[in-house]
Amino acid sequence: RLSMAKSKFEYVRDFETDDSCLPNCWIVVRLDGRNFHRFSEQHEFKKPNDDRALHLMTKCAQTVMQELEDIAIAYGQSDEYSFVFKKKSRWFKRRASKFMTHVVSQFASSYVFYWKDYFKDQQLLYPPGFDGRIVLYPSNQNLKDYLSWRQADCHINNLYNTVFWMLVQRSGLTPVQAQDRLQGTLAGDKNEILFSEFNINYNNEPLMYRKGTVLIWQKINEVMTKKIKLPEETEEKEVEVTRTRTKVVPLHCDIIGDQFWEEYPEILAE
Ligand code: ATP
Ligand code: ATP
Ligand code: MG
Ligand code: MG
Ligand code: MG
Ligand code: MG
Repeated sequence: RLSMAKSKFEYVRDFETDDSCLPNCWIVVRLDGRNFHRFSEQHEFKKPNDDRALHLMTKCAQTVMQELEDIAIAYGQSDEYSFVFKKKSRWFKRRASKFMTHVVSQFASSYVFYWKDYFKDQQLLYPPGFDGRIVLYPSNQNLKDYLSWRQADCHINNLYNTVFWMLVQRSGLTPVQAQDRLQGTLAGDKNEILFSEFNINYNNEPLMYRKGTVLIWQKINEVMTKKIKLPEETEEKEVEVTRTRTKVVPLHCDIIGDQFWEEYPEILAE
């Protein structure tokens, strides 16, 4: 009787606002490292691309996909990751604050938890933070365009950063001089500088830098040997059994063209 009764304070719950996401829309959560310009300097990230940092980001994103429900695909580059929840997801009644806070806090705690596995002798000097935002996309085309936008951003930034850091590290320009040199240049000009001055063909740069990282679910067939005892026999026998598991797999491929979506139609299927 007593436990059923509501306290006189209960009314404050009504001040909470309904933030449930519109039905049938893709729910995208994008997070981004807070002030990673400084964080990357203080932790001596290799410029322009530190593999340890990129792999740690991807480990955290894999953890998010495995721990939380209904994530169909994720895409990451630099200090950001986007997570796409299935449009039919009923997780937490589609409450935006639940999606965003669970993604960001799981990611941030993973970043600290797994730090030492990737950075070895580089100590973590202070607790990093991440911001989060949520965006709804009502059509498959909108969602594909969103992911294309992030991958195009990756390409533009990486081309710029690759030339910028070559000018600084190899030609000894100051950051301001390198910035001035690149002012107003187009993609073709940057490719030309890389080729003529540094003998670098941009297209041969690692795919992870140029395309970012796509995380998808894939079925993996695991063959293991198991010891079983048949009823009519006395001794144990070793048999091979195949177990199908779904794993989060990283890819560094183009997602702007149609090929990726034709190869993995199940991502958008539901
Ligand atoms: P904000 O808090 O507004 O996001 P920010 O300093 O994090 O500020 P971003 O636009 O998010 O600004 O840029 C992230 C910066 O982090 C990049 O400019 C780059 O210098 C650095 N960075 C992130 N990942 C790496 C990496 N793997 N290797 C080297 N540098 C990186
Ligand atoms: P949800 O994900 O829905 O929040 P939950 O298991 O976290 O699920 P809560 O209603 O938040 O459920 O309850 C938190 C539980 O954590 C408590 O029921 C209690 O068992 C445990 N807990 C939290 N703090 C302490 C503490 N300081 N000492 C012992 N138990 C604790
Ligand atoms: Mg920013
Ligand atoms: Mg940032
Ligand atoms: Mg960023
Ligand atoms: Mg709780």
